[in-house]
Amino acid sequence: MSNPEIPAPKPQDASVSIVSSQADLDPKDRPLLDMADWCRQRGSLVVLKSGTILTVNPAAREVQNCKIMMVNRGMRPGKVLQATPEFIALLLASAEQVQEDSDTARVVDVSTMSSQQQRLRQLVQEAVAANVSDIHIEVRQEVAKIRFRKYGELYLHAEWFSRLAREVAAVAFNKETDHATAHFNPLIPQDASMPILISGQEVRLRLASLPAHGGFDVVMRILGVGDAATGVTLEELGYTSEQVYIIKRAVQMPHGAVLLSGPTGSGKTTTLSSCMRLVRDTRKVYTIEDPVEKVVDTVTQVPVNTDKDDRSFASFGRAALRMDPDYIVLGEMRDEDTASVMIRAAITGHLVFSTVHTNSAIGVIARLVDMGISPSLLSDTNVLVSLIFQRLAPKLCPHCKVPVAEAAAQHDAMSRWQQVFGDKVSSIYARGPGCKQCHRTQLAGRTVVAEVIWIDEPGRQFIQKLDMLGWHQYLRSQGWQSYRDRTLALVTEGILDPFDAEGIIGEISLISEDKGFDYRKIADELQHHHLPT
Ligand SMILES: [Zn+2]
Repeated sequence: MSNPEIPAPKPQDASVSIVSSQADLDPKDRPLLDMADWCRQRGSLVVLKSGTILTVNPAAREVQNCKIMMVNRGMRPGKVLQATPEFIALLLASAEQVQEDSDTARVVDVSTMSSQQQRLRQLVQEAVAANVSDIHIEVRQEVAKIRFRKYGELYLHAEWFSRLAREVAAVAFNKETDHATAHFNPLIPQDASMPILISGQEVRLRLASLPAHGGFDVVMRILGVGDAATGVTLEELGYTSEQVYIIKRAVQMPHGAVLLSGPTGSGKTTTLSSCMRLVRDTRKVYTIEDPVEKVVDTVTQVPVNTDKDDRSFASFGRAALRMDPDYIVLGEMRDEDTASVMIRAAITGHLVFSTVHTNSAIGVIARLVDMGISPSLLSDTNVLVSLIFQRLAPKLCPHCKVPVAEAAAQHDAMSRWQQVFGDKVSSIYARGPGCKQCHRTQLAGRTVVAEVIWIDEPGRQFIQKLDMLGWHQYLRSQGWQSYRDRTLALVTEGILDPFDAEGIIGEISLISEDKGFDYRKIADELQHHHLPT
């Protein structure tokens, strides 16, 4: 049994001490189930998802055999670390528990599947169990990194040999997707939708691929899990009671358009389905979606395949208008065709909901004008009812968050925040070390940060003149809260880390866009306070 890919055993690095608990390792690095049975038979070593091998004796022949086993199974052996026998026994026992859980949950007959198909299922199952939103497969020359996104942040889940990752990606596109006709080609961008049965339940994933230097990336977004819990109210998502009041008022309008904007992955679909739960069941609702992400039993959900023109959003939207609807939900406005269906639905006496990608609620107007809708049509009293913008912000774990003044790494920014928040700075918290309750993520899920505009008569006049600046000033004078205001409020409530907040709204300082960017203040700031670098 010789294999040229196996590196020779390295003498143990004297600087590495003996691993005795998870605290000595990456907290996310758990035992690799594929190797758990093999390791359990030996009892003196365990393989982690990163490829790291923990062993009682790094010089043992078993370590070398273990590497050969890993390579044969398509895995890449990583570091070899010495660990205590107690810790290794503990890890092997925990892997057994996880394995039992997943074995009983397996319903599909896996015997007829290829090993790549089984590998794909296992990966999706691990992701669903960890409540992650996206699986990133980054395939390069030798190695493929598998990273998971949870609460908006990526962490390394596993490393595979690139050959295995290429095969799994190809099998996903060629055998598992809805329209498995296209042949996977890593040299061109491709996308598809994939249903997979996990524990008897269908999990839908949206796949996208992009060529990269030395390989390609595949990202699988898990739809309908993660943050997107079913049946949540707008308040639970993070909307304020004032904002919910406006949205409820909008849902009761007989006709018009409610437009929801935000970046990709900002939870717009979840908000839309929460809005749909506000609709009385004496009303008929059609939703046009690409694909259907969450099943809502009180509405008629129409799946769209945007790859085929004859089944586009616009043509399905037009068809739904002939089906005696009260409400139409157009999954996404991407072009003039869909935008004009939205307008037509609104002016023919329906309430229409749709989403669009922008960076603010006001920005929806410019986006629609870009799509070819005239300002006079947009300012028609029958068209716009309300504009909503939302983003997601990570919430601090309440069990391990620390007062911002105590967080040593953040002293640099303290004087700047002191200036902005004044006395309130004492109620501001930052990310702590991570604890049991938050599984060392430092976070406790995410919350919506939103701004909601009710389109009133003055608002329509600003839209007609395309005076967005004037409109913004008017809204502020009416006591309207922007998502920037909401973000700062969450910081002073101790829910949001100010560093995370700056990732959303940019630098928090007295030099603000709102009051006019003051160039003279920069020198002063640089002298007395620390600006982020
Ligand atoms: Zn915690």
